[in-house]
Amino acid sequence: MAHKYVYSFGDGSAEGKADMKELLGGKGANLAEMSNLKIPVPAGFTISTEVCTYYDENKAYPPELEAEVADALKKVEKVMEDTFGDAKDPLLVSVRSGGRASMPGMMDTVLNLGLNDVTIQGLIAKSGNPRFAYDSYRRFVAMFGDVVLGLKPVSEDDIDPFEEILEEKKKIRKASYDTDLTADDLKELVAEFKDAIKKRTGKDFPEDTKEQLWLAIGAVFESWNNERAIVYRKLNNIPDHWGTAVNVQSMVFGNMGEDCGTGVAFTRDPATGEKKFYGEYLINAQGEDVVAGIRTPQQIAQLEKDMPEVYNKLVNIYQNLEKHYRDMQDIEFTIQNKKLWMLQTRVGKRTGFAAFSIAVDMVKEGLISKEEALMRVEPEQLNQLLRPIFDSKEKAAAVEGGRLLTKGLNAGPGAASGKVVFNAADAEEWAKKGEKVILVRIETSPEDIKGMNAAEGILTARGGMTSHAALVARQMGKVCVAGCGDLDIDYKKRVMVVKDKTIKEGDFISLDGTTGEVIEGEIKTNPSEVLQVLLTKSLDPAASSTYQTYAKIMNWAEEVRRLGVRTNADQPDQSANAIAFGAQGIGLCRTEHMFFGGERIDAVREMILADDEDGRRKALDKLLPMQREDFRGIFEVMKELPVTIRTLDPPLHEFLPHSDREIEDLAKKINVPAEKLKARVVSLHESNPMLGHRGCRLGVVYPEITEMQARAILEAACEVAKKGIKVHPEIMIPLVSHVNELKSQEEIVRRVAKEVFKEQGIEVDYLVGTMIELPRAAITADEVATVAEFFSFGTNDLTQTTFGLSRDDAGKFLPYYLTKNILSKDPFQVVDREGVGQLMKWGVERGRSTRKNLKVGICGEHGGDPSSVEFCHEIGMDYVSCSPFRVPIARLAAAQAALKEKREN
Ligand code: PEP
Ligand code: MG
Repeated sequence: MAHKYVYSFGDGSAEGKADMKELLGGKGANLAEMSNLKIPVPAGFTISTEVCTYYDENKAYPPELEAEVADALKKVEKVMEDTFGDAKDPLLVSVRSGGRASMPGMMDTVLNLGLNDVTIQGLIAKSGNPRFAYDSYRRFVAMFGDVVLGLKPVSEDDIDPFEEILEEKKKIRKASYDTDLTADDLKELVAEFKDAIKKRTGKDFPEDTKEQLWLAIGAVFESWNNERAIVYRKLNNIPDHWGTAVNVQSMVFGNMGEDCGTGVAFTRDPATGEKKFYGEYLINAQGEDVVAGIRTPQQIAQLEKDMPEVYNKLVNIYQNLEKHYRDMQDIEFTIQNKKLWMLQTRVGKRTGFAAFSIAVDMVKEGLISKEEALMRVEPEQLNQLLRPIFDSKEKAAAVEGGRLLTKGLNAGPGAASGKVVFNAADAEEWAKKGEKVILVRIETSPEDIKGMNAAEGILTARGGMTSHAALVARQMGKVCVAGCGDLDIDYKKRVMVVKDKTIKEGDFISLDGTTGEVIEGEIKTNPSEVLQVLLTKSLDPAASSTYQTYAKIMNWAEEVRRLGVRTNADQPDQSANAIAFGAQGIGLCRTEHMFFGGERIDAVREMILADDEDGRRKALDKLLPMQREDFRGIFEVMKELPVTIRTLDPPLHEFLPHSDREIEDLAKKINVPAEKLKARVVSLHESNPMLGHRGCRLGVVYPEITEMQARAILEAACEVAKKGIKVHPEIMIPLVSHVNELKSQEEIVRRVAKEVFKEQGIEVDYLVGTMIELPRAAITADEVATVAEFFSFGTNDLTQTTFGLSRDDAGKFLPYYLTKNILSKDPFQVVDREGVGQLMKWGVERGRSTRKNLKVGICGEHGGDPSSVEFCHEIGMDYVSCSPFRVPIARLAAAQAALKEKREN
């Protein structure tokens, strides 16, 4: 038998069904399914996605296609009792795209196809309504001209030629609306549209209905490769090779009179998830009128009064569809002379709130299992339940009012409004005075931490998703829009120019960290109820349905996940937040973040500037009690949970002042000649600090730094242990490439531990381990594991060093790689499974080959990314560690990974 490319549906049966989406696209598969369910669907057929791929490869259709289409068309004619191209009973069809995944509005559609100067007479006679018939005809010619013959305007400034003619006609006829035009006016329009086509293309509008059909099929297939569709696919991770199907379906008309109409509806509220029939419709209208918003549609409940019988049928159908698909459906219907037709059903898109609440409700209703509920929701959508959000009406008004300034990377989700400040010190100062501020920087550095903490949100001109700003903001739970290339920031003048607008210090701006939008002015925010229950404890859990939903899903996730979830936190309050979100320990405490507060930075600088070991030790002695105090605070919050503390990692020059003014100020403060200080700053300069004197290399050259840190950690641990709390410190050495580096640091830690335990008269369990963030460490993991009691994959650095791609500079060219499809995902956000991932897999296996019970985790930013969490599960890690606000996301992703594995086995 020849290969089958065309699948018919209609009249209570179909050749396809719902699970044939790959072949028939979502729309085609669901039309077939509805037909099989005996739901009234206008008859039609689907040309499979294989034809799209075939056409892409061969620039021609498969030879069997013509005959298959002709056969399918005959079937439609039989069911609908009309004939395509017939003068008396003309069958009209729609030709629509329909990919596997929904790509709303990205591809093309032609409606009312099959009209010409002959068949129009048949339509007039059949409908008894010449105005309707000519209205359909002019719409068809314009749509065909736009979509098939290429008259569609290319840029936003161009006017659609048919719109222009229409407007002219309305002016001449003094008509305010299209509906004021008469049948004769519309008839004239048809002729004028055809003239315009001839003038523009040099060709006549095709009167042959078969030619119309094949041209339209070709155009719809080709729209798979239009720019909008390509961009949409990129944004939504839809592979290019999927291709679209084409659905040819007999037309039904909602615009044939007062007993006709059309509408769209959801089987539950897509914004809140509430279980109510939600939708709108218009009497005497075509589908596009509902979407275009020219006339205000009626609420669906009104249909019960307008056409009770139709309404009851619709209710019956939607309930059946939801039960059948066991998910919320988004449906389209048309009423033609009081007869109801279903044009589409698909799984409805919904907000995070709705997704979670529908999943929980459907379990309660017995429609789906808990496991299905867990698989239905997207971990990222949890963000919506946790973040403060803009008042949606206010935000929409701001955007419509032209206040959208620009868009950057959505680096820290949530909503924040505040006054613009351009440096960290101002941020702190203004915040102290009770102002809400947004810190705007070209990029941030560790010195900005306090200002970032004081700000409601952070906006940067440079840097990617793992830039300092992005990373720290997420850890702090701050809203952040990063890498916003449109910002032209002048620190001196304290202004930024965004396109043609100038924003001054003190002006209000609003950041939507979930979408990356930067908006001028203030927008009201509402805090998340989940946070009010968990963190501020200002809301009774029983009073918040959002919290109840969150808690249910998280409890179900706990029942199935294997992978542990820890957090990256450097402060007691961050740790407390993470615990409230369910963290099972700290996977990374970056000690350098503690080096900036109050007098500490002075002591740190003194240590760096010291001429010899004695000088360094003196300064380190000052730091010791401060660090100990930090660790004590964290141990007290974390109690019996493991706490991984990393020894100093960044290159020392990051702690030094840079401008002359800063150097002079510091010189005065620590009583060192400014010249000497300057010389030291210069001597510490490195051409490539990321690969320079950082990580364990600091402790190797200056063992006294590791000594001090080990002492601070272990003294704090002993102090807390004396209160009866069984603490579990895990001391982690960064940026190891050779086992001997680790050995040298381990020896120091073990020696200090012995001393401290003796002095304190108490011992605590502790581990010494390492980060795996350089390829050599991963490759020689078996050797490294002879010393390390645990591994934590630092995938930020491991990605940087495996790709040879600077974390700090990638923002300049990586976006280009993504748009050009050279890389499909940003490897700093999603683990590159084929490259970096293989090193990780190798590292886990080799590490465990020499130490069976080696504990393995990840603490790079990927630890909070659902797809990367899945990978970590697959390669047998013990835990992932991520910023506090991503802990619930990782817990859910870990549960999904476990369920997926169960399904596959
Ligand atoms: C890493 O490299 O993945 C890591 C966690 O360390 P940092 O981001 O501090 O370099
Ligand atoms: Mg690192």
